[in-house]
Amino acid sequence: MSATALTAWPERLYDAYVFDMDGTIYLGDHLLPGAKRLIEELRRRGIPVRFLSNNPTKDPEQYVEKLERLGLPTPVEEIANTVVTTTRWLLENKPGAVVFPIAEEPLIRAFHEAGIEMSDDPEKIDVVVASYDRTFDYRKLQIAFDAIWFHKRATLIATNPDRFCPFPGGRGEPDCASIIAAIEACTNTTCEMVVGKPDPVMAEAALGNTDVDPTRCVMVGDRIMTDIKMAVNTGMFSAMPLTGESTLEEALALPEAERPTHVLDRVDRLIPKVLWDEIGWTEENDPIV
Ligand SMILES: [Mg+2]
Repeated sequence: MSATALTAWPERLYDAYVFDMDGTIYLGDHLLPGAKRLIEELRRRGIPVRFLSNNPTKDPEQYVEKLERLGLPTPVEEIANTVVTTTRWLLENKPGAVVFPIAEEPLIRAFHEAGIEMSDDPEKIDVVVASYDRTFDYRKLQIAFDAIWFHKRATLIATNPDRFCPFPGGRGEPDCASIIAAIEACTNTTCEMVVGKPDPVMAEAALGNTDVDPTRCVMVGDRIMTDIKMAVNTGMFSAMPLTGESTLEEALALPEAERPTHVLDRVDRLIPKVLWDEIGWTEENDPIV
């Protein structure tokens, strides 16, 4: 497949659109070019739109507030993230387990509300949950180490596999992969489950309250190893805007079956060219640019 074919605009609309947020819809506190009018146009046509994030430092209600602030009011039912999926995964797969969350408040609050028992006593911990935790410190690492290595009772799971969270200006913040690596390094254990994208559990969480077939939907996200891989893992089409982490060169270097269906310079190219002309869109008349 040539670079031209790979970057071609979709020629049709899909049955539903699942959007990653960081690096896809917005970067920091600013919507990316085309994001607002794209979402509004899909909604105007009655096409389901869902939002999906690997980030466990906010709960869906906080994403509602953020999207509203950015001018994209969205009902909470249309948003899923690893706070929701990790809680659900524990309830289904580790019922009754005592959990040590290496996590910020939203994930701990969700565990509490779900009735999941939590402890920082290594003798009682069944599952250590690693996450994107900006309060991570040596004490938490020692508790995980004691529960897993010394008492040989706890297993390790994690909310998401991301190495860093992208920030404006090419900056970023260390994400869950660094916490997983710290625990795996000292305990010589391997993380049993990483709940976030690319695991199909996330696609299910996003599309669970629609009646659309995932194979007729498109996953839109800026990261090959999470967003695009989840699409490949679940048989969804995929679109990768070049507004976040992954690059066109990285997409082209993938085996054909793992490449994004579409690589886009801006996210509103998800609307086919013929419809851009019909609606009267140009790159210049995007109201947020
Ligand atoms: Mg992203």
